[in-house]
Amino acid sequence: MWKRASCSRDSREVYPALPLLKSDLPRTLGLEHEICLGTEVKRSVYNIHRQAPSIYIMEETIMTRFGEFSRRHFMTTVAAAAGSTLIPRTLLATPPQDPVVNTTQKDGKFVSRERVPWKVRPFPMKQVRLGDGPCKVAMEADRQYLHSLPPDRLLHTFRINAGFPSSAEPLGGWEKPDCELRGHYAGGHYLSACALMYASAGDEDLKKNGNTVVAELGKCQSALKSGYLSAFPIDFFDRLRERQRVWAPFYTIHKIMAGLLDMYIYCGNEQALDMVQKMAGWTAGYTGPLSYEHMQRVLSTEYGGMGEVLSNLYAVTGREYYLEVAQRFDKKQFFDPLASHRDELKGLHVNTHIPQVIAAARYYELTGDRRYRDIAEYFWDEVVSERSYCTGGTSNGESWNTDPGKLSTELSTNTTECCCAYNMMKLSRHLFGWSPDARFMDYYERTLFNHRLGTINPEDGTMMYYLPLATGYWKTFGKPFDAFWCCTGTGSEEYAKLTDTIYFHDDDSLYVNLFIDSQLEWTEKGLQVKQETRFPEEQGTTLSVVAKSPTKLSINLRIPYWVQGGSVKINGAPLSAFASPSSYLTLTRIWKTGDKVELSLPMGLHIDSMPDDETIQAAMYGPLVLAGRFDAVTKEMTYGDYEPKPGDQKKVQDIVADASRPTAWIEPDPKQPLTFNTVGQSQAATLVPLNRVIHERYAVYWKVNNKTT
Ligand SMILES: [Zn+2]
Repeated sequence: MWKRASCSRDSREVYPALPLLKSDLPRTLGLEHEICLGTEVKRSVYNIHRQAPSIYIMEETIMTRFGEFSRRHFMTTVAAAAGSTLIPRTLLATPPQDPVVNTTQKDGKFVSRERVPWKVRPFPMKQVRLGDGPCKVAMEADRQYLHSLPPDRLLHTFRINAGFPSSAEPLGGWEKPDCELRGHYAGGHYLSACALMYASAGDEDLKKNGNTVVAELGKCQSALKSGYLSAFPIDFFDRLRERQRVWAPFYTIHKIMAGLLDMYIYCGNEQALDMVQKMAGWTAGYTGPLSYEHMQRVLSTEYGGMGEVLSNLYAVTGREYYLEVAQRFDKKQFFDPLASHRDELKGLHVNTHIPQVIAAARYYELTGDRRYRDIAEYFWDEVVSERSYCTGGTSNGESWNTDPGKLSTELSTNTTECCCAYNMMKLSRHLFGWSPDARFMDYYERTLFNHRLGTINPEDGTMMYYLPLATGYWKTFGKPFDAFWCCTGTGSEEYAKLTDTIYFHDDDSLYVNLFIDSQLEWTEKGLQVKQETRFPEEQGTTLSVVAKSPTKLSINLRIPYWVQGGSVKINGAPLSAFASPSSYLTLTRIWKTGDKVELSLPMGLHIDSMPDDETIQAAMYGPLVLAGRFDAVTKEMTYGDYEPKPGDQKKVQDIVADASRPTAWIEPDPKQPLTFNTVGQSQAATLVPLNRVIHERYAVYWKVNNKTT
């Protein structure tokens, strides 16, 4: 989200003059990796170039152990070892494909509007429950925060705008009565978060509060007439049309529409569906008279996921008109280069654009138009492999400021806006649904464990805006009633839907994507799968099955990119083979109650250096980014600001080590799990997972000077 009210910036002004046409495959170590293994050439994405040293080490390990096997050999061997055969996975034409559109069941009938159904689909969140662990802690903090928000205060500016009295104490921050973005959280993200929390945790009180807010917003919408619903006056849209200064009216409208749609989808609130359709009608009425060129100018102002929510509304209702209105929000200037595989992202505001790609993904699914898939896939590849940091986050000062692969100059106090991580993870789910490739979930895990966990304050559920990656700074969190930033909103949603990606499935197989203590009820199969793990303290996970009757099924376990070795046991018996990193290990057999799968995933230290400067290095252990942890900061420093004050930086000494030997400067602390110490440095430092640093200064990227002696 643009942080400041300077929304009139036209992205065309900052497009790079010379788009780079890339031939990117030979640059990726992923290609070399695949060739070494003798398998099909396939691009293995994300930060690959940055992981080169560590991957090489892993490569040696693989070649020593499994040199003569291809991935296909691995899979076949493993399946045979499991006493069964591989079942070809078919593309299924049957809905539902995603909770977002899993709503078209009415009167017991299902009508799918998906022209391209996902090959693998998530389970409805109500079928997955979190067990104890870091995700549960984050979810509970979020839940506590959502419970602290009184509906009357949330409704205040909506009521005032609709001409109703309100004596509630106004909220602050971006919900302040004079803030041009007011309503985005109170009538939008809040509803989505309540709906998602109900779906994933069964929280009836939040559902009730959500229903209350919907009913009251309904009165406001009726009073405003014409379907318009907002906490700010309709003349903001006159300013938008006339290209006068205004923050981001459609961005706010998108949040409200998405919140209402979520209340329908997850809580069955029919009034919410009626209201969002009225808003769509109003949007059609506003955009309809504008010429194509005029609308393209309007799209220079941040507009969130208007295309996505209108597409989803079409999927839910079957009214094609909404899809037509959705595509009025296609920004040609942004989509065209992506469709031609040109990275012209330099100069763009990041979180303005990721939601547009999510909309493109939905257009592809709903229309079958391959161009939209090209846009989404190329964009994802480019952002993940060329423009993302070790945490999985992207953006610096909310923008992409450089050519692809140039990040060493992009370390600051306002790197990696949290909304960008949220939206990239959301986009990843679509790509995984089309093609269940482990690289998408490798990225998802990286971003979840390093950027999302650790940016919600476990004590009170407040959220961060940026995750600073410049060395020597600290994390800042919004105040509970005086922030309501964009990232407060996406954070409120994120930690309410941590159950949505752990497992996916198709008709005859289960995908275990993430190692998170949880329980799955696969109602249609009469199966319960319990995943017990203390991951990442525990280097692996255990699955136990309860089956109403013996059931033939493939269980696909993600073998992450970072694994160093690894093994699996079924009912205590070790299998003689394993799968390669960044793939799925398929176990096909007839599963019965009491069956147990124990997956061991050894972690090791590895280095993620800057793509354009190998002497700027971050240390990782398995999936975890490690951070040097320094002195504690005060409460005053922690709360209130978007970011730490630039210049108020702790000077961290450079590392002196053999830069060609990754991890030469760090070793595990034998006494404490997931704790590491620098080796042979004049200033000793302790490193822990970044997601555990909350109230201390930290260092993620270190300058490593080569030891010449
Ligand atoms: Zn944000």
